[in-house]
Amino acid sequence: MPKVASHPTALRELDGPDTCDMCGTPGLKTELVRDPFIYGAGDDGVELVVEIPVRTCSSCGPYTDDHAEDIRHDEVCRHLGVLTPAEIRELRAKYDLSRAELARITGLGESSIGRWETREIIQNVGNDRYLRLLRDPAIFLLAKSLASPEPVHADPGVLPPDRVARLRDSGLHFTLQPVAA
Ligand SMILES: [Zn+2]
Repeated sequence: MPKVASHPTALRELDGPDTCDMCGTPGLKTELVRDPFIYGAGDDGVELVVEIPVRTCSSCGPYTDDHAEDIRHDEVCRHLGVLTPAEIRELRAKYDLSRAELARITGLGESSIGRWETREIIQNVGNDRYLRLLRDPAIFLLAKSLASPEPVHADPGVLPPDRVARLRDSGLHFTLQPVAA
């Protein structure tokens, strides 16, 4: 039996844009709405609850935009216990990498990374764990070293000494050099 979500409830009015996205009519209203939805099919369906901004235009009626989709998607990611698209972008930003560079270092597909970040698809648990591990600078350096025939340079301050010793012992191409100012 497909499950049916509980009814949405308007919580309060929010500040928002004055004109409708679709028709340009002024006087747009934005309300924060508690909006339960069913994730999954049949007996596996679970009710997840989000609070999303719902706009109401006097001529188009109520609608939701990308912001609401982001909130729903993040809730599904939290339910599944995987990184959200924003958290994956943060991982790339942490090491200042393009999608192509992250793909080269990790062996993950560049287009997959793009789809995870734009909430087109959700990464599976294996890839999610890999991404989480890469948030650790020592593991990131190891991955970088595996991907590169050249020694990997890192700022000595990045890693505690015991981890440096372990990396040296690992026999991978690895050197620590001061980063040029
Ligand atoms: Zn409108």
